[in-house]
Amino acid sequence: MWSSMTESGGDFEQMWRDLAPLGRSSASGGYFRQPYTPVEGELRAWFIEQCTARELELEPDGNGNLLAWWSPPAARSSSVETTQVETTQGVLIGSHLDSVLDGGAYDGPLGVVSSLAAIDRLRERRVIPRRPIAVGVFAEEEGSRFGIACLGSRLAAGATTPEAAGELRDRDGVPLLDAMTGAGLEPSLGRAPWLARIGTFVELHVEQGRDLVDRDAAVGLATGIWPHGRYRFDFTGDANHAGTTRMADRHDPMLTYAITALAASKHAAAAGQRATFGRLEVAPNGTNAIPSRVTAWLDARCDSETELVRLVAEIKRQASERADRDGTRVRVSAESVSGDVSFDPDLTQHLQAGLADRWGEVPVIPTMAGHDAGVLAAAGVPTAMMFVRNPTGVSHAPSEFADMADCLAGVDALADALEVLVS
Ligand SMILES: [Zn+2]
Repeated sequence: MWSSMTESGGDFEQMWRDLAPLGRSSASGGYFRQPYTPVEGELRAWFIEQCTARELELEPDGNGNLLAWWSPPAARSSSVETTQVETTQGVLIGSHLDSVLDGGAYDGPLGVVSSLAAIDRLRERRVIPRRPIAVGVFAEEEGSRFGIACLGSRLAAGATTPEAAGELRDRDGVPLLDAMTGAGLEPSLGRAPWLARIGTFVELHVEQGRDLVDRDAAVGLATGIWPHGRYRFDFTGDANHAGTTRMADRHDPMLTYAITALAASKHAAAAGQRATFGRLEVAPNGTNAIPSRVTAWLDARCDSETELVRLVAEIKRQASERADRDGTRVRVSAESVSGDVSFDPDLTQHLQAGLADRWGEVPVIPTMAGHDAGVLAAAGVPTAMMFVRNPTGVSHAPSEFADMADCLAGVDALADALEVLVS
């Protein structure tokens, strides 16, 4: 079936159209593609259908991730070099299909769709890979339901333990394992058997910034990912009447939170780093009540681990200082912290050299966003990332965008990179 697909990018455009309506909010135009929900089931079914049409062999793992293998005979066995070829490790490409709440269309799906289209390109070029190729879809990359970003790849790589994941609940109290079972999966959390068969991972992703716009390039490669973390701040005080409680008599955790959020922004800006409070839960959450509790989540990202520790410590210090003044209390816990990730410089250079003929000098840029590529790189898999230009730089929002011409350039560049790796 794949052989009938055209070289014009029709395969990519058709797949992109297939996905467009899934999980899209008619109100905002943004996407709600949370893991183990009916819409994620549709995305998964779509992926399986695409893989089946391409005769890729599906390998789900017990962590919600799904790999689909193209293992041509040359990559599977050979009469002369059986031993060597059988131990040849695969090249993984792919990304994720889930989104943040009210996210964009490109973050994740662009990598998955481009990977399938890149396989089509290689077949059109009659390339017979000497290494198996797998297209991967990772579960809960955004952490939008269970709070831990890259949960699927972290479990597969052993970076999150099955015990810790077994404790996770979504906002409605649904345990991760129940959600997975409810979605028709058979969870078996922990290190994935496929990991040992992957020798290279290349994740294509929409750029979440404007570096490529500034450099006038449709595609780029990544140097690494900034260290980043998610921290939960529990501010507690005394609930009371909004009218009858004198201002001087209040112990209002909302004020402690508000000053903390301002301090986080001020310190991050001054240090050239990033700090965001983007999620809040208030109890009892009544207009006429002083809250008893405010829970706020800090997302912090820095150019070094030392800076990250320093920034979070400074925000915590300001929070407790303010809590003392307000007569409130604050408790901080780190929910997930990812260290400095450098992508494989040799691999990146190899790809840059391989792409040079057709693409000139492909820019190599850093990213402040976390990715499954970061998790696999930290687990020792030689990894590279490829970015596709995003004209607005906006991501994690409905206006996230990439021009179709740039998306197709991304497919070609990924196919070229794959060809370099499997030839
Ligand atoms: Zn992503």
